[in-house]
Amino acid sequence: MNDSAPKGGPEGGDGEGTRAVRAGLPEPVKYEPTLPGPVFAAHFHLPGEPTGPYTYGRDENPTWTHLERAIGELEAPGQDGVETLVFASGMAAISSVLFSQLRAGDTVVLPADGYQVLPLVRAQLEAYGIEVRTAPTGDDAQLQVLDGAKLLWIESPSNPGLDVCDIRRLVEAAHARGALVAVDNTLATPLGQRPLELGADFSVASGTKQLTGHGDVLLGYVTGRAGEPMRAVRRWRKIVGAIPGPMEAWLAHRSIATLQLRVDRQSAGALAVAEALRGRPGVSALRYPGLPDDPSHKVASQQMRRYGCVVSFTLPTRARAERFLEALRLVDDATSFGGVRSTAERRGRWGGDAVPEGFIRLSVGAEDPEDLVADVLRALAESAR
Ligand SMILES: *Cc1c(COP(=O)(O)O)cnc(C)c1O
Repeated sequence: MNDSAPKGGPEGGDGEGTRAVRAGLPEPVKYEPTLPGPVFAAHFHLPGEPTGPYTYGRDENPTWTHLERAIGELEAPGQDGVETLVFASGMAAISSVLFSQLRAGDTVVLPADGYQVLPLVRAQLEAYGIEVRTAPTGDDAQLQVLDGAKLLWIESPSNPGLDVCDIRRLVEAAHARGALVAVDNTLATPLGQRPLELGADFSVASGTKQLTGHGDVLLGYVTGRAGEPMRAVRRWRKIVGAIPGPMEAWLAHRSIATLQLRVDRQSAGALAVAEALRGRPGVSALRYPGLPDDPSHKVASQQMRRYGCVVSFTLPTRARAERFLEALRLVDDATSFGGVRSTAERRGRWGGDAVPEGFIRLSVGAEDPEDLVADVLRALAESAR
Protein backbone atom coordinates (compact mmCIF):
# COMPACT_ATOMS: atom_id res chain seq x y z
CA MET A 1 0.00 0.00 0.00
CA ASN A 2 1.17 3.51 -0.69
CA ASP A 3 -0.73 5.31 2.03
CA SER A 4 2.25 5.18 4.37
CA ALA A 5 4.64 7.89 3.11
CA PRO A 6 5.11 9.57 6.46
CA LYS A 7 7.10 12.73 5.83
CA GLY A 8 9.37 14.39 3.33
CA GLY A 9 7.26 13.22 0.40
CA PRO A 10 8.36 14.90 -2.80
CA GLU A 11 6.74 18.23 -3.55
CA GLY A 12 6.99 19.57 -7.06
CA GLY A 13 9.23 17.85 -9.59
CA ASP A 14 9.39 14.13 -9.51
CA GLY A 15 11.50 14.02 -6.35
CA GLU A 16 12.72 10.51 -7.12
CA GLY A 17 15.92 10.79 -5.13
CA THR A 18 14.02 12.02 -2.11
CA ARG A 19 11.47 9.27 -2.53
CA ALA A 20 14.16 6.58 -2.74
CA VAL A 21 15.92 7.85 0.37
CA ARG A 22 12.75 7.79 2.47
CA ALA A 23 10.83 4.99 0.77
CA GLY A 24 8.94 2.71 3.11
CA LEU A 25 10.17 4.26 6.35
CA PRO A 26 7.68 4.02 9.22
CA GLU A 27 6.68 7.02 11.35
CA PRO A 28 9.70 7.89 13.52
CA VAL A 29 9.63 6.54 17.08
CA LYS A 30 11.77 8.16 19.74
CA TYR A 31 14.92 6.12 20.50
CA GLU A 32 14.17 3.69 17.68
CA PRO A 33 16.25 3.47 14.47
CA THR A 34 14.88 5.25 11.40
CA LEU A 35 14.83 1.95 9.51
CA PRO A 36 13.92 -0.68 12.11
CA GLY A 37 16.27 -3.66 12.16
CA PRO A 38 15.37 -7.08 10.75
CA VAL A 39 12.71 -8.93 12.71
CA PHE A 40 13.78 -12.56 13.12
CA ALA A 41 10.65 -14.48 13.93
CA ALA A 42 9.16 -17.77 12.79
CA HIS A 43 6.07 -16.97 14.85
CA PHE A 44 4.74 -14.01 16.82
CA HIS A 45 3.22 -13.74 20.27
CA LEU A 46 -0.43 -14.51 19.54
CA PRO A 47 -2.89 -14.91 22.41
CA GLY A 48 -6.57 -15.29 21.53
CA GLU A 49 -8.08 -14.68 18.10
CA PRO A 50 -5.50 -14.22 15.27
CA THR A 51 -6.64 -10.81 13.97
CA GLY A 52 -3.37 -8.88 13.43
CA PRO A 53 -1.16 -9.25 10.37
CA TYR A 54 1.79 -10.93 12.07
CA THR A 55 1.02 -14.48 13.07
CA TYR A 56 3.36 -16.90 11.33
CA GLY A 57 6.62 -16.04 9.53
CA ARG A 58 5.71 -17.58 6.17
CA ASP A 59 2.70 -15.25 5.81
CA GLU A 60 3.94 -11.83 6.92
CA ASN A 61 6.93 -10.20 8.53
CA PRO A 62 7.27 -6.53 9.57
CA THR A 63 10.64 -6.24 7.79
CA TRP A 64 8.97 -7.33 4.55
CA THR A 65 6.15 -4.84 5.14
CA HIS A 66 8.57 -1.91 5.23
CA LEU A 67 10.36 -3.16 2.11
CA GLU A 68 7.09 -3.83 0.27
CA ARG A 69 5.95 -0.27 0.98
CA ALA A 70 9.29 1.08 -0.23
CA ILE A 71 9.15 -0.81 -3.54
CA GLY A 72 5.48 0.11 -4.01
CA GLU A 73 6.25 3.81 -3.53
CA LEU A 74 8.87 3.61 -6.29
CA GLU A 75 6.90 1.40 -8.71
CA ALA A 76 3.64 3.33 -8.38
CA PRO A 77 4.21 6.68 -6.65
CA GLY A 78 1.02 8.34 -5.52
CA GLN A 79 -1.17 5.47 -6.65
CA ASP A 80 -3.55 4.07 -4.06
CA GLY A 81 -4.64 0.48 -4.00
CA VAL A 82 -1.32 -0.92 -5.18
CA GLU A 83 0.26 -3.83 -3.37
CA THR A 84 3.75 -5.29 -3.39
CA LEU A 85 4.83 -8.78 -2.36
CA VAL A 86 8.48 -9.70 -1.84
CA PHE A 87 9.92 -13.10 -2.68
CA ALA A 88 13.05 -15.16 -2.15
CA SER A 89 14.33 -14.44 -5.68
CA GLY A 90 13.29 -13.01 -9.01
CA MET A 91 12.38 -16.48 -10.25
CA ALA A 92 10.18 -17.03 -7.20
CA ALA A 93 8.30 -13.84 -8.08
CA ILE A 94 8.02 -14.73 -11.79
CA SER A 95 6.85 -18.28 -11.09
CA SER A 96 4.33 -17.03 -8.57
CA VAL A 97 2.63 -14.81 -11.14
CA LEU A 98 2.67 -17.44 -13.90
CA PHE A 99 1.56 -20.39 -11.81
CA SER A 100 -1.07 -18.48 -9.84
CA GLN A 101 -2.74 -16.95 -12.91
CA LEU A 102 -2.67 -19.83 -15.38
CA ARG A 103 -4.68 -23.07 -15.46
CA ALA A 104 -4.62 -26.09 -17.76
CA GLY A 105 -6.06 -25.06 -21.13
CA ASP A 106 -4.95 -21.40 -20.80
CA THR A 107 -2.52 -19.74 -23.21
CA VAL A 108 0.40 -17.52 -22.20
CA VAL A 109 2.65 -15.40 -24.42
CA LEU A 110 6.31 -15.22 -23.35
CA PRO A 111 9.18 -13.30 -24.95
CA ALA A 112 11.32 -15.47 -27.25
CA ASP A 113 14.42 -13.54 -26.16
CA GLY A 114 13.83 -13.17 -22.42
CA TYR A 115 15.65 -14.28 -19.30
CA GLN A 116 17.49 -17.56 -19.81
CA VAL A 117 15.42 -19.54 -17.28
CA LEU A 118 12.16 -18.88 -19.19
CA PRO A 119 12.62 -21.96 -21.44
CA LEU A 120 12.70 -24.13 -18.30
CA VAL A 121 9.55 -22.39 -17.07
CA ARG A 122 7.99 -23.00 -20.46
CA ALA A 123 8.58 -26.76 -20.18
CA GLN A 124 6.95 -26.79 -16.73
CA LEU A 125 3.95 -24.75 -17.91
CA GLU A 126 3.46 -27.13 -20.84
CA ALA A 127 3.68 -30.11 -18.50
CA TYR A 128 0.67 -28.58 -16.68
CA GLY A 129 -1.32 -28.33 -19.92
CA ILE A 130 -0.78 -24.60 -20.52
CA GLU A 131 -0.16 -23.49 -24.11
CA VAL A 132 2.97 -21.35 -24.42
CA ARG A 133 3.57 -19.05 -27.39
CA THR A 134 6.68 -16.97 -27.88
CA ALA A 135 7.62 -14.01 -30.06
CA PRO A 136 10.59 -11.61 -29.98
CA THR A 137 10.53 -8.41 -27.95
CA GLY A 138 11.65 -6.18 -30.85
CA ASP A 139 9.13 -4.66 -33.29
CA ASP A 140 6.33 -5.47 -30.78
CA ALA A 141 6.21 -8.93 -32.38
CA GLN A 142 4.26 -10.34 -29.42
CA LEU A 143 1.24 -8.47 -30.84
CA GLN A 144 0.98 -11.12 -33.55
CA VAL A 145 0.35 -14.03 -31.16
CA LEU A 146 -2.00 -12.48 -28.58
CA ASP A 147 -5.33 -13.90 -29.73
CA GLY A 148 -6.87 -16.10 -27.05
CA ALA A 149 -4.07 -15.50 -24.52
CA LYS A 150 -4.83 -15.22 -20.81
CA LEU A 151 -1.51 -13.58 -19.89
CA LEU A 152 1.14 -11.61 -21.77
CA TRP A 153 4.66 -11.62 -20.34
CA ILE A 154 6.86 -8.69 -21.42
CA GLU A 155 10.56 -8.25 -20.77
CA SER A 156 11.67 -4.77 -21.83
CA PRO A 157 14.53 -4.07 -22.20
CA SER A 158 15.14 -7.76 -22.84
CA ASN A 159 18.07 -9.54 -21.24
CA PRO A 160 20.63 -9.90 -22.77
CA GLY A 161 19.68 -8.57 -26.24
CA LEU A 162 18.44 -5.12 -25.01
CA ASP A 163 15.49 -4.92 -27.37
CA VAL A 164 12.60 -2.73 -26.25
CA CYS A 165 8.89 -2.99 -27.02
CA ASP A 166 6.14 -0.40 -26.77
CA ILE A 167 4.63 -1.49 -23.45
CA ARG A 168 1.58 0.77 -23.64
CA ARG A 169 0.72 -0.49 -27.13
CA LEU A 170 1.06 -4.15 -26.12
CA VAL A 171 -0.96 -3.58 -22.94
CA GLU A 172 -3.81 -2.01 -24.90
CA ALA A 173 -3.88 -4.89 -27.37
CA ALA A 174 -3.73 -7.49 -24.58
CA HIS A 175 -6.44 -5.83 -22.48
CA ALA A 176 -8.68 -5.54 -25.53
CA ARG A 177 -8.47 -9.35 -25.74
CA GLY A 178 -9.07 -9.81 -22.02
CA ALA A 179 -5.48 -10.80 -21.20
CA LEU A 180 -3.51 -9.68 -18.15
CA VAL A 181 -0.04 -8.19 -18.66
CA ALA A 182 3.10 -8.65 -16.57
CA VAL A 183 6.32 -6.73 -17.23
CA ASP A 184 9.71 -7.95 -16.04
CA ASN A 185 11.16 -4.68 -14.74
CA THR A 186 14.50 -6.09 -13.57
CA LEU A 187 16.78 -4.33 -16.01
CA ALA A 188 15.06 -0.95 -15.90
CA THR A 189 14.38 -0.80 -12.13
CA PRO A 190 11.42 1.34 -10.99
CA LEU A 191 13.55 4.45 -11.52
CA GLY A 192 13.98 3.52 -15.18
CA GLN A 193 10.39 2.61 -15.97
CA ARG A 194 7.05 2.24 -14.17
CA PRO A 195 5.05 -0.53 -15.87
CA LEU A 196 1.85 0.06 -13.87
CA GLU A 197 1.69 3.65 -15.19
CA LEU A 198 2.01 2.17 -18.70
CA GLY A 199 -1.08 0.08 -17.95
CA ALA A 200 0.46 -3.27 -16.96
CA ASP A 201 -1.26 -5.37 -14.30
CA PHE A 202 1.96 -6.60 -12.69
CA SER A 203 5.48 -5.25 -12.46
CA VAL A 204 7.69 -8.20 -11.58
CA ALA A 205 11.42 -8.09 -10.96
CA SER A 206 14.52 -9.64 -9.59
CA GLY A 207 15.77 -7.47 -6.75
CA THR A 208 19.03 -9.37 -6.98
CA LYS A 209 20.29 -7.03 -9.68
CA GLN A 210 20.35 -3.23 -9.63
CA LEU A 211 17.52 -2.74 -7.14
CA THR A 212 19.80 -3.91 -4.33
CA GLY A 213 22.97 -3.34 -6.35
CA HIS A 214 25.73 -4.91 -4.26
CA GLY A 215 25.71 -8.50 -5.53
CA ASP A 216 25.07 -9.89 -2.03
CA VAL A 217 21.32 -10.53 -1.87
CA LEU A 218 18.79 -12.62 -3.80
CA LEU A 219 15.32 -11.12 -3.86
CA GLY A 220 12.23 -10.74 -6.03
CA TYR A 221 8.99 -8.80 -5.97
CA VAL A 222 5.61 -8.40 -7.61
CA THR A 223 3.75 -5.07 -7.61
CA GLY A 224 0.15 -4.92 -8.81
CA ARG A 225 -3.22 -3.35 -8.19
CA ALA A 226 -5.02 -4.86 -5.22
CA GLY A 227 -7.61 -7.40 -6.36
CA GLU A 228 -8.10 -11.07 -7.14
CA PRO A 229 -4.98 -11.50 -9.31
CA MET A 230 -2.75 -10.16 -6.51
CA ARG A 231 -4.62 -12.24 -3.91
CA ALA A 232 -3.79 -15.30 -6.00
CA VAL A 233 -0.11 -14.30 -6.09
CA ARG A 234 -0.13 -13.91 -2.30
CA ARG A 235 -1.74 -17.35 -1.89
CA TRP A 236 0.92 -18.81 -4.15
CA ARG A 237 3.70 -17.31 -2.00
CA LYS A 238 2.11 -18.94 1.02
CA ILE A 239 1.70 -22.29 -0.74
CA VAL A 240 5.25 -22.55 -2.07
CA GLY A 241 6.85 -20.62 0.79
CA ALA A 242 9.14 -18.72 -1.57
CA ILE A 243 9.80 -16.02 1.03
CA PRO A 244 12.86 -13.84 1.63
CA GLY A 245 14.73 -14.00 4.92
CA PRO A 246 14.35 -10.95 7.18
CA MET A 247 18.05 -10.14 6.83
CA GLU A 248 17.84 -10.10 3.02
CA ALA A 249 14.71 -7.95 3.16
CA TRP A 250 16.40 -5.47 5.50
CA LEU A 251 19.59 -5.31 3.40
CA ALA A 252 17.46 -4.68 0.32
CA HIS A 253 15.60 -1.83 2.02
CA ARG A 254 18.85 -0.27 3.19
CA SER A 255 20.19 -0.48 -0.38
CA ILE A 256 17.15 1.19 -1.93
CA ALA A 257 18.07 4.45 -0.17
CA THR A 258 20.96 4.81 -2.66
CA LEU A 259 19.04 3.54 -5.70
CA GLN A 260 18.83 6.87 -7.47
CA LEU A 261 22.51 7.64 -6.85
CA ARG A 262 23.52 4.25 -8.20
CA VAL A 263 21.18 4.21 -11.17
CA ASP A 264 22.13 7.72 -12.29
CA ARG A 265 25.85 7.02 -11.92
CA GLN A 266 25.65 3.63 -13.62
CA SER A 267 23.50 4.89 -16.51
CA ALA A 268 25.98 7.71 -17.12
CA GLY A 269 28.83 5.19 -17.05
CA ALA A 270 27.00 2.82 -19.40
CA LEU A 271 26.40 5.63 -21.90
CA ALA A 272 30.07 6.64 -21.72
CA VAL A 273 31.22 3.06 -22.31
CA ALA A 274 28.76 2.58 -25.18
CA GLU A 275 29.86 5.84 -26.82
CA ALA A 276 33.51 4.82 -26.45
CA LEU A 277 32.88 1.41 -28.06
CA ARG A 278 30.85 2.80 -30.96
CA GLY A 279 32.64 2.29 -34.27
CA ARG A 280 35.73 0.63 -32.71
CA PRO A 281 37.38 -2.00 -34.93
CA GLY A 282 36.22 -5.49 -33.91
CA VAL A 283 33.11 -4.25 -32.07
CA SER A 284 29.82 -5.07 -33.77
CA ALA A 285 26.13 -5.21 -32.80
CA LEU A 286 26.70 -2.65 -30.04
CA ARG A 287 23.48 -2.13 -28.07
CA TYR A 288 22.52 0.38 -25.40
CA PRO A 289 18.99 1.80 -25.37
CA GLY A 290 20.36 5.18 -24.25
CA LEU A 291 22.44 5.64 -27.41
CA PRO A 292 20.47 8.00 -29.69
CA ASP A 293 21.11 5.80 -32.75
CA ASP A 294 20.27 2.49 -31.00
CA PRO A 295 17.33 0.64 -32.63
CA SER A 296 15.60 0.61 -29.20
CA HIS A 297 16.12 4.29 -28.44
CA LYS A 298 12.98 5.82 -29.91
CA VAL A 299 10.53 3.56 -28.06
CA ALA A 300 12.72 3.48 -24.94
CA SER A 301 12.76 7.27 -24.74
CA GLN A 302 8.94 7.30 -24.71
CA GLN A 303 8.59 4.98 -21.73
CA MET A 304 11.91 4.96 -19.85
CA ARG A 305 13.43 7.67 -17.71
CA ARG A 306 16.83 5.97 -17.38
CA TYR A 307 18.29 3.37 -19.73
CA GLY A 308 19.99 0.98 -17.36
CA CYS A 309 23.54 -0.16 -16.75
CA VAL A 310 23.87 -2.98 -19.30
CA VAL A 311 25.72 -2.60 -22.60
CA SER A 312 26.05 -5.48 -25.03
CA PHE A 313 28.25 -6.00 -28.08
CA THR A 314 29.88 -8.74 -30.12
CA LEU A 315 33.59 -9.36 -30.68
CA PRO A 316 34.67 -11.31 -33.79
CA THR A 317 35.46 -14.64 -32.10
CA ARG A 318 35.08 -16.52 -28.86
CA ALA A 319 38.88 -16.37 -28.32
CA ARG A 320 38.92 -12.61 -28.80
CA ALA A 321 36.06 -12.23 -26.31
CA GLU A 322 37.88 -14.39 -23.77
CA ARG A 323 41.11 -12.36 -24.17
CA PHE A 324 39.10 -9.14 -23.74
CA LEU A 325 37.50 -10.35 -20.51
CA GLU A 326 40.83 -11.53 -19.16
CA ALA A 327 42.53 -8.22 -19.94
CA LEU A 328 39.94 -6.15 -18.03
CA ARG A 329 41.15 -4.97 -14.61
CA LEU A 330 38.20 -2.97 -13.27
CA VAL A 331 35.54 -5.35 -14.57
CA ASP A 332 35.05 -8.75 -12.94
CA ASP A 333 34.27 -11.76 -15.12
CA ALA A 334 30.96 -12.72 -13.54
CA THR A 335 27.36 -13.33 -14.46
CA SER A 336 24.42 -11.21 -13.24
CA PHE A 337 24.35 -7.40 -13.56
CA GLY A 338 23.41 -4.21 -11.81
CA GLY A 339 26.04 -4.18 -9.05
CA VAL A 340 28.22 -1.24 -8.01
CA ARG A 341 31.27 -3.18 -9.24
CA SER A 342 31.34 -3.63 -13.01
CA THR A 343 31.02 -7.17 -14.37
CA ALA A 344 31.08 -8.70 -17.82
CA GLU A 345 30.76 -12.14 -19.32
CA ARG A 346 30.76 -14.01 -22.58
CA ARG A 347 27.11 -14.87 -22.59
CA GLY A 348 27.50 -17.85 -24.94
CA ARG A 349 29.28 -19.83 -22.21
CA TRP A 350 25.87 -20.73 -20.72
CA GLY A 351 24.41 -22.09 -23.94
CA GLY A 352 20.91 -20.78 -23.09
CA ASP A 353 20.71 -17.53 -25.05
CA ALA A 354 20.68 -17.38 -28.84
CA VAL A 355 23.76 -15.14 -29.07
CA PRO A 356 27.01 -15.28 -31.12
CA GLU A 357 30.12 -16.83 -29.52
CA GLY A 358 31.77 -13.42 -29.15
CA PHE A 359 28.73 -11.77 -27.51
CA ILE A 360 29.63 -9.78 -24.37
CA ARG A 361 27.18 -8.49 -21.77
CA LEU A 362 28.82 -5.72 -19.78
CA SER A 363 27.22 -4.36 -16.60
CA VAL A 364 28.55 -0.93 -15.72
CA GLY A 365 29.11 -0.28 -12.03
CA ALA A 366 29.64 2.89 -10.04
CA GLU A 367 33.34 3.37 -10.84
CA ASP A 368 34.44 6.68 -12.39
CA PRO A 369 33.22 6.48 -16.00
CA GLU A 370 36.57 7.73 -17.37
CA ASP A 371 38.45 4.96 -15.51
CA LEU A 372 36.08 2.34 -16.90
CA VAL A 373 36.26 3.66 -20.44
CA ALA A 374 40.07 3.61 -20.26
CA ASP A 375 40.07 0.04 -18.92
CA VAL A 376 37.61 -1.22 -21.55
CA LEU A 377 39.49 0.43 -24.45
CA ARG A 378 42.84 -0.87 -23.19
CA ALA A 379 41.48 -4.42 -22.86
CA LEU A 380 39.94 -4.16 -26.32
CA ALA A 381 43.30 -3.13 -27.82
CA GLU A 382 45.19 -5.86 -25.92
CA SER A 383 42.68 -8.53 -26.97
CA ALA A 384 43.34 -7.68 -30.65
CA ARG A 385 46.96 -8.74 -30.37
C1 LIG B 1 18.19 -12.32 -12.99
C2 LIG B 1 16.91 -12.14 -13.67
C3 LIG B 1 15.79 -12.86 -13.26
C4 LIG B 1 15.84 -13.89 -12.16
O1 LIG B 1 16.14 -13.32 -10.91
P1 LIG B 1 16.78 -14.17 -9.70
O2 LIG B 1 16.79 -13.19 -8.58
O3 LIG B 1 18.15 -14.61 -10.16
O4 LIG B 1 15.90 -15.34 -9.46
C5 LIG B 1 14.60 -12.63 -13.93
N1 LIG B 1 14.51 -11.75 -14.95
C6 LIG B 1 15.57 -11.05 -15.38
C7 LIG B 1 15.42 -10.10 -16.53
C8 LIG B 1 16.82 -11.23 -14.76
O5 LIG B 1 17.87 -10.55 -15.20
